[in-house]
Amino acid sequence: MATLRIAIIGGGAAGFFAAVRAKELRPDAEVIVYEKNARPLAKVAITGGGRCNLTNSFGRVSDLKQVYPRGYRLMKRLLCHFDHFDCQSWFEHRGVPLVTQADECVFPQSQDAMTIVGCLLAEARRLGVRLVTSCRVEGLTPLADGRLRLGFRDGRSEEFDRVAVTTGGSPRGEGLRWLAALGHEIAEPVPSLFTFNIADRQFTRLMGTVVEAAVSIPGSKFRAAGPLLITHWGMSGPAVLKLSSHAARYLAEREYRAQVAVNWMGEVSRQETEATLQAFVLANPQKQTGTWNPHGLPSRLWHYLVLRSGLASEKRWVEVGKKGLNHLVETLVNDVYAVSGKGAYKEEFVTCGGIALSAVDWNTLESRVVPCLYFAGEVLDIDAVTGGFNLQAAWTTGFVAGTHMAD
Ligand SMILES: Cc1cc2nc3c(=O)[nH]c(=O)nc-3n(C[C@H](O)[C@H](O)[C@H](O)COP(=O)(O)OP(=O)(O)OC[C@H]3O[C@@H](n4cnc5c(N)ncnc54)[C@H](O)[C@@H]3O)c2cc1C
Repeated sequence: MATLRIAIIGGGAAGFFAAVRAKELRPDAEVIVYEKNARPLAKVAITGGGRCNLTNSFGRVSDLKQVYPRGYRLMKRLLCHFDHFDCQSWFEHRGVPLVTQADECVFPQSQDAMTIVGCLLAEARRLGVRLVTSCRVEGLTPLADGRLRLGFRDGRSEEFDRVAVTTGGSPRGEGLRWLAALGHEIAEPVPSLFTFNIADRQFTRLMGTVVEAAVSIPGSKFRAAGPLLITHWGMSGPAVLKLSSHAARYLAEREYRAQVAVNWMGEVSRQETEATLQAFVLANPQKQTGTWNPHGLPSRLWHYLVLRSGLASEKRWVEVGKKGLNHLVETLVNDVYAVSGKGAYKEEFVTCGGIALSAVDWNTLESRVVPCLYFAGEVLDIDAVTGGFNLQAAWTTGFVAGTHMAD
């Protein structure tokens, strides 16, 4: 019987996981990973600021939609086959001790992403997966006998029984054209996980300030909460990144010009803020406005917000009328800024969009258009907020595609 030939296009997290899984199940198969760059797993090496936040405990996740704005329904189904517990035991059984931080993010105990890269390379080598680097796949042709012919940049071609596309994100869409030409529907790719540019100089002078806040886009359903960091170009931090992820497509359509409303009191409501402020004013009428500091706001920010609401910080509370107090409450809970563009977030960056999920079989990740062709990783229209969820999607989808390719 001829040997089963499996090709994986893209030597990243999903590609290695698919290759290792397929070879584990079918040691007799020839499994080859083609990587266009000289080094495989280059992105894994820089994840988590070089520490690799490889998954999350999911301890604070009550609804997958919160963390996977795109693909949560498919992830729900696929996590039954390979979830964060499986991911942790997979690496630990291969000699990589892991640690879970207080924020539920999971890292290798070594705090070095190269430990994860080394583990994946060693496992692929141990099982006999072949790795071909500096080799870009440029085309795929389904043949009459059911096999798939891969065309390489250097003009060569090879035939395989099963192929997985694990080429990663493609924010400008160039890596998706040949897949669209095969008949796959594409969800238009746009960037996700970015910071907001705010042109207001008074505001950006507060750079370095970190606050637990809630952010939203007025007139939309998009909102997020968590630490907000003021930077020299605008707003960053987990709350803003989460908002950018949920609103990735909405903001792209508006060319990153929108409004962002900040509740500096975090999740505290307007009524509660008003009641607390009024109680404070009654008890401290002779004190200056600069003295009340709700929610432990940094004093620089508090002074800025008092001025922004139209009050003078040396004014005594008794002199601030009802209107003044209303302005202050409004500034505290609904402080609106104009977003003038999208900033870069160097720590993590993913693509929203890719191969439409309607183009794949949800049980196997096989293409509905080209039999024996599979997809895994960020090339699919699945992406997440920060916290290890993107790599978990790569491991999970790679595992499922690898399992079915070996079937
Ligand atoms: C700076 C940074 C930090 C990040 N940190 C984290 C983190 O800590 N935790 C987390 O969960 N997520 C993180 N992410 C996101 C995460 O890295 C990705 O979601 C994940 O790597 C996607 O895996 P993948 O295998 O689908 O794609 P990739 O890892 O991008 O791999 C795709 C591979 O395919 C190759 N390729 C592409 N086209 C071809 C072709 N035609 N022929 C041959 N090879 C090809 C590419 O060169 C690449 O090596 C981070 C992302 C960035 C950019």
